[in-house]
Amino acid sequence: MLLDLESADSPQRYDADLCIIGAGAAGITMSRRLIGSGLDVLVLEAGGFEFEPATQDLYNGAVRGLYYSVVGSRLRRFGGTTNHWEGWCGPLPQTDLSPRAWVPRSGWPIGYGDLEPYYRLACEVLELGEYDFDTFGDIKPPAPSVTPKGAPFFESFGIRPTPVPRLGATHRGMLTEAGNVRVLLHANVLPIAVEGGQVRQITVSTLGKRQATVRAKVFVLACGGLENARMLLASGNLANSSDAVGRHFMDHTFSTFAGVVVPPNEYSDSPTYRAREGIPPYSGLRVSPEAEKELEIMACSIGVIPHAIPDSLKPPGPRGIEIGFPMMIHGECTPLPESRVTLTPEIRDAMGTPRLMLDWRVDEMTQRTVRETVLRYSGMITRAGLGRVYIPQEQSELEWPFALYAPCHPAGTTRMSSDPKLGVVNADCRTHDVPNLYVVGNSVFSTISHMNPTMTIVALSFRLADHLQVALGKK
Ligand SMILES: Cc1cc2nc3c(=O)[nH]c(=O)nc-3n(C[C@H](O)[C@H](O)[C@H](O)COP(=O)(O)OP(=O)(O)OC[C@H]3O[C@@H](n4cnc5c(N)ncnc54)[C@H](O)[C@@H]3O)c2cc1C
Repeated sequence: MLLDLESADSPQRYDADLCIIGAGAAGITMSRRLIGSGLDVLVLEAGGFEFEPATQDLYNGAVRGLYYSVVGSRLRRFGGTTNHWEGWCGPLPQTDLSPRAWVPRSGWPIGYGDLEPYYRLACEVLELGEYDFDTFGDIKPPAPSVTPKGAPFFESFGIRPTPVPRLGATHRGMLTEAGNVRVLLHANVLPIAVEGGQVRQITVSTLGKRQATVRAKVFVLACGGLENARMLLASGNLANSSDAVGRHFMDHTFSTFAGVVVPPNEYSDSPTYRAREGIPPYSGLRVSPEAEKELEIMACSIGVIPHAIPDSLKPPGPRGIEIGFPMMIHGECTPLPESRVTLTPEIRDAMGTPRLMLDWRVDEMTQRTVRETVLRYSGMITRAGLGRVYIPQEQSELEWPFALYAPCHPAGTTRMSSDPKLGVVNADCRTHDVPNLYVVGNSVFSTISHMNPTMTIVALSFRLADHLQVALGKK
């Protein structure tokens, strides 16, 4: 059932078994799973069905450290950021969920085996076809590139775009008809208070200050990778005995400007360059787990994008490049405590909630991962006779940051750890401090690998929905 807090007849009090805060990829997936579960589910969504500038402005914030668009990287409306995501999906590699001795704070408290059944469900719901993410078609390294100990540096991996990316639009009908799930639009959740160690009730408000209270047995924060942390911090440091809320912020080190591969002829027919059914082989190869371990680097994928190179990347001189392929990289970033979201108590949004401040930092290993991957890829392309590589002069030292921008995968700010001193939620996404408060989304990622996050967010959301059905006695 769909309801709107802006409606004149909207009640001032709502009761439910389970209250999910946020109707983006995570909130919608959970609600979908709980249809017919016997649980009375209430989903609180800050926005409406359309983009509303005043609502979106609640996402504004400040940045220091590396550049990040805290307002452009997410959408505050029904369907959340899936209203403009690109839909590329794949599971996190098993090896990157495990502890890696050389990556500080690595190792999720859950393994691939815990996620796999839910990845399969996600694959079905996102209409991704057969669950096989081992390879990207027939893309493989075009020439050997080996580590000093002889392990392959690159390997192929699978990633696919969903044909149904707008999760709000695809689930609106299903949620309208659901007997046990209500979605309340224009319900901005205000900072949360705890009574007797639990969340008993919360307050929601429209921009016009129409308010209501919501009581539930269990609450789930599903507001996205930045906002989950902001909500907890603004709620008097809720669930933060570890001091990890807001810390360990990560996104992928993303660049389409790592260099340009110039094919030997005007166009090369190699699979490295060929677009497949309209899909560019942009992420065709990644660093192998053996190379990660031996060279003490992290996950990184690399490929080329078959489109014209921008003028800014064309080298000067008579042999100017007209046809070439920008390299695209997607690198993992170390979870650093000093890379963090905090609040600006002196600057508040229209609801009176302090705006966020993001300070994204990266370390030497994050930089080295990108540098090593770009140089290895360039060497391999040259050796295979597939072209020459041009890295613009000012980037030839691969100094940091070189034309870096974030792909809008904010993660890590309420990280998962089985140790309450090192993380905010446990393996079930329950906060260590407040037994009836859960968090879901990429804010719970312990590390991010190189892979786009949303298929994992969907898998975690299915898993949490199943867990809560059991916890609330309905399974
Ligand atoms: C341009 C772009 C391209 C992308 N491409 C890809 C891609 O190809 N592959 C991929 O895997 N990922 C991609 N992403 C990331 C993807 O969109 C996110 O990972 C995903 O949407 C996160 O889901 P979520 O439910 O955690 O958060 P969101 O989808 O952001 O949903 C959060 C919801 O919470 C609501 N909310 C927030 N605060 C409150 C509050 N106080 N009260 C009530 N409700 C609230 C919001 O309105 C929103 O509906 C892309 C993102 C962008 C911006």
